[in-house]
Amino acid sequence: MARKGKNRKRKELCPRCQKIKVLTKHHIYPKRYGGHANQYNTGYVCRECHNKLEYIIMKTEQMYGTKRRYKLEKPRYREIFETFIQAPSL
Ligand SMILES: [Zn+2]
Repeated sequence: MARKGKNRKRKELCPRCQKIKVLTKHHIYPKRYGGHANQYNTGYVCRECHNKLEYIIMKTEQMYGTKRRYKLEKPRYREIFETFIQAPSL
């Protein structure tokens, strides 16, 4: 679903929690590793779900219980995102 400019603040259905919310753009392959903001690398979830998703990514990147975050293999980020938005809300 393409969303640009003006439509960004419109409330829409969050695929994760199934609530009508203002959605936040998520970079599937992280921006900090050079992930692009194009339609192939972005997905939309509400802010609360986005926080949870970023937390899951952080925990997945922190291997061996250290604070250091390790870059995962690129397909893993898409897998995390797709698993996340398919999971039933709690
Ligand atoms: Zn949500």
